Order: sequence, then C-alpha cells, then structure tokens
Amino acid sequence: MQSTLEPQTSFAVTDKGFYGRFGGAFIPEMLYPNVEELRQSYLQIMADPAFQAEFQQLLEDYVGRPTPLFLARRLSEQVGATVYLKREDLCHTGAHKINNTIGQILVAQRLGKKRIVAETGAGQHGVATATVCALMGLECIVYMGSIDMERQKPNVDRMRMLGAEVRPATSGSQTLKDATNEAMRHWINNPVDTHYIIGSVVGPHPYPDMVARFQSVISEEIRKQLFAKTGRENPDYVVACVGGGSNAAGAFYHFLNEPAVRLVATEAAGLGVSSGHSAATTALGKPGVLHGSRTILMQTEDGQVTEPYSISAGLDYPGIGPLHAHLFDTGRGDFYAITDDDAMQAGFNLSKLEGIIPAIETAHALAALPKMGLTPTDVVVVCLSGRGDKDLSTYSKYL
Ligand SMILES: *Cc1c(COP(=O)(O)O)cnc(C)c1O
Repeated sequence: MQSTLEPQTSFAVTDKGFYGRFGGAFIPEMLYPNVEELRQSYLQIMADPAFQAEFQQLLEDYVGRPTPLFLARRLSEQVGATVYLKREDLCHTGAHKINNTIGQILVAQRLGKKRIVAETGAGQHGVATATVCALMGLECIVYMGSIDMERQKPNVDRMRMLGAEVRPATSGSQTLKDATNEAMRHWINNPVDTHYIIGSVVGPHPYPDMVARFQSVISEEIRKQLFAKTGRENPDYVVACVGGGSNAAGAFYHFLNEPAVRLVATEAAGLGVSSGHSAATTALGKPGVLHGSRTILMQTEDGQVTEPYSISAGLDYPGIGPLHAHLFDTGRGDFYAITDDDAMQAGFNLSKLEGIIPAIETAHALAALPKMGLTPTDVVVVCLSGRGDKDLSTYSKYL
C-alpha cells in the first residue's frame, strides 16, 4: 500500500477530518449531535487568546513545561549519533497524556459541560483525566474493562483517590474496546452536560486533530530548544512510539512539512510480527473503520478486530490514528515493529546509561535507534513519552 509522496501533499486535516484517505467521522446517528457540537466549536475555542493564555499557564505551572531537551551523551556514543531526549516523562503524572487532558477540560468548560467521561485501558489516560477533573472540580467517570481493573489496580486506586468514579466494563473481552463502548454509550445518553475526553489521536473527527494540536507543544518546544543548543531547528530524525499515536503526533507536528526531517514511528511487535501475539498495526493491518475513523487496523478476513498483544499496556491497541495511517501510506513516516524483548533491553539500557527509567511504551522508541542505520553527523530526537515507575514490576519480572 506504500505509494510515493506527492510534492504538494499536506499533512493537515481537511474540513471533513481527512488525512488523505484516512480519518473522517463514522459514528452512529445517536452520537452525531455531540460530535458535531465539538466540531463546530473546537477551532474557535482554541484560537481564543484567553483560552490560549489559560492553557499555556497550566502547562507551565501545573504540568511543568517546557520539559527539558536532554543531550544523552552515553547513549549517543553507543548508537553513533547525537541523541536528544524530549523529557515528557517529567510531566506531572509521568507522561505526555496530561497535555491533552488539560486542553480538553478547558474546552469542556467553555462548552458548559459539568461532567467528564473517559475510557482507559492501562489506566494512564484515566489518571490524567481524573487529575484535571480534580483540578477543575468537575465530576469524572472513567470506564475500564473489569479485567484491566484487576491487572492495573494501582491506577484504579489513583483514580479513586483523585475523586473519579471508576466503572467496570463487563461486556465482551472486558478490556479497552469494551470500556470505549461503555463510555460512548454514556455520552449518547448524556449529550447536554457531558464531554468525552479521548486519550489519543483516534476517534471521529475532530478528536484526532484536536488531540494532535494539544500535543503539538512537544514539537514546538523541540524546535526552539534544539535551535538554542545547536543553531538548527530541524533534527535529522524524530522518533516516537505509537499506541494510538498522540505522543508521536505531538513530536512530529511542527516537522510534518519539513521533508528533511525523517519521522520514525515504532509499533509494538509483541512476541514477533508473525507470532499471532502482536500490536504491529501497519505491518499486519488493513484499512477499515475503528472507533469512528477510517484508519489501518488489525482485523480478520471478515473484518473482525483482532485482539492485540504487547507487553506494554499503552501500545496494546489494534489500530493507529488516521494521521499515522496517512504518514505510512505516503511513505512520510518510517515504521518499525519492536518486539517485547527488544523494548525491554532498550529500557534496561537507558536506565544504566543515562539514569532514566523509561516507560515500557517509550522503550519501544529507544529500541529503534540501533536499527536506523545512523551515522555520526545525525541529530536524533527521541520523544521520551513517559517514566517507568508504573512498569517496575514488569521490568523486575524480566530480569
Ligand atoms: C499511553 C502511552 C503511550 C501510547 O499512547 P500514544 O497516544 O500513542 O502516545 C505511550 N507512552 C506512554 C508513556 C503512555 O502512557
């Protein structure tokens, strides 16, 4: 499906929410009023200087931005190129996800919403949502598969401590997909007073574009910080892991129309691309509709969504956002499939070399470095999407 990149290709979303042949809003009739209200207002709200001022202030004082761009000297020496780490792991709550939940709760307030609903798999997005709801004093309901609630108990406890109500999704496989269905159902039944905070660049338009814009602070900062350190704004490579694709979209955003910057996305290959236990969407998937947008997803011959697998809960998703499907389709992005083993080794490697324990999701991005054919003059920025505290038991079981 790879085609050549047309010189005029733009990577901005169209009015109807498309990136090339991916995106759009494929939603049930019942959801239309909610999604349409958001579509008509999100750009206007985000362009309002008062909104921007409040968003920027919270990113600074609450999230702790700008996050550092760190020259990883020992890692650079090991891979034979200059490697910078964009430290999203230092954000409040330990990952980039809070950039988006801060933005969306400010949108929800301006739409006059009183209640927030969200879905969560591993619980990271649920925690980031519960956090901003506590900050703003809004009611928060998080749907989570009942199996995930058992697997990710510490995050359930965190959400409850933050004042959120965690509701188990007991249908189907009792995981993320079912939690998403429950959250959607809740939104359909409460269209007037509830806003649904989606946690990645997925879902019906305008979510992928809105979330990418909130996360684009990452690449905005990278450009400024890299210029201050090296006199150039553009690295040769930007590397990020892709679950749904929000940290990657944020890290790529200001480089999308800079063809000299290679965009490198890493997906979870689990036990191996062909093992039957994988989440390597572009390697295994085909075009189809998932959670309201046309994208690439893992599916059976007759179009049933395949259960994904990855050691990392945050990458354990059967699709990718439509922007990433388009980057793959046009050849603008390089996609690597990283196995559990390679990711875990990369996580241990960074910990010992730089004193930074990365999230296992993030370790998938680091694992691409030795596979990229880097040369000594290359400048590489890796989006360090989150910290590994939440993953310590998985890491130690692996030792
Ligand atoms: C959730 C998560 C991811 C995956 O989500 P994206 O939307 O693809 O960014 C990656 N890294 C960390 C640390 C996460 O918590």
